[in-house]
Amino acid sequence: MSRSGADRAAARSYAEVLFGSTPRGALVEVRFRLRSGMGRRFEGVARLDALVDSILTLSRHTEVFVGVLPRWRRSGTRADVVARGRVVWADCDCAEAVAALRAFRPSPAMVVASSEENRHAYWLLTAPVSVDVIEQTNRRMALALGADVRCGDRTRILRPVGSVNRKRREAVAVRLLDLAPEARVSLAELDRVLPCAPPRAITPLRGREAMGTVDALDAIPPPVYFERLTGLRVGPSGKLHCLFHDDRSPSLHVYREPGRGWYCFGCGRGGSIYDLAALLSGRETRGRDFTELRRDLEELMLPRARLAAEVSSETVTVRGGSGGVRIMGGTGARRLS
Ligand SMILES: [Zn+2]
Repeated sequence: MSRSGADRAAARSYAEVLFGSTPRGALVEVRFRLRSGMGRRFEGVARLDALVDSILTLSRHTEVFVGVLPRWRRSGTRADVVARGRVVWADCDCAEAVAALRAFRPSPAMVVASSEENRHAYWLLTAPVSVDVIEQTNRRMALALGADVRCGDRTRILRPVGSVNRKRREAVAVRLLDLAPEARVSLAELDRVLPCAPPRAITPLRGREAMGTVDALDAIPPPVYFERLTGLRVGPSGKLHCLFHDDRSPSLHVYREPGRGWYCFGCGRGGSIYDLAALLSGRETRGRDFTELRRDLEELMLPRARLAAEVSSETVTVRGGSGGVRIMGGTGARRLS
């Protein structure tokens, strides 16, 4: 095989390991350095050859990076990353971390030389897990190896095989070092060997957990909130045509148990009641948007619980009214219908 043929085959193997079993509607984010700032394009996971072309062509002139987790729309923020994935990774950016990686078991499915000295390692899981779990496992992996703890974020972009590292004066090809594409590890197996990660609040979910309160919204069974928010009926199978992509077969699963949420196997969107409400209303699941989202959801889904809390915490006078009840509380009057 010619030199360029071998480069292409290696880039193709890399793309298959990361995106070969991804839901077909998902997109791969490719970023590249421009004279000032960064450029960005998206390639569908259904056309891995186009992705490989992008990487190889752009790499002739500039530095290229690829989002490790696919996105479900043409953007690269935390909200754009698919809800679940099956890869865990580490950026070993010093000699100690590279040595620790060599000794680490289970071995990764793929090791990439991102420069002469540094290595990126990728483990493939036996089953998809939520991106929260991926981030947490990445952090624990980084702690185990002494690798860069910041590189496990869900939006992380890393240098792909077939690109060129131009960080130093001497340009270095980013190469595929080890490949065991069939190697899979279970989360339980990693759980046994990895250290516990120090808690770090990075997502609204963690923020809610950190508040130490049981979230009444999280306790609502997914079929109940799904029907209320979308107006679609969820049958006994829990399967629906996805409302977020052109879905010929019912790919969206609404799970019965609170906490398991919903997930579309076609486009990769999914998550909790908050993720659904955010998608439907075009808001984010963080910051001020999240506060508003939560308040709206509480009003929609928990009116009785809210009332009960107010009734018990305020001095209440109930008077008769026409068609409604007026509750006089410490914070003023409110008309309820
Ligand atoms: Zn979908």
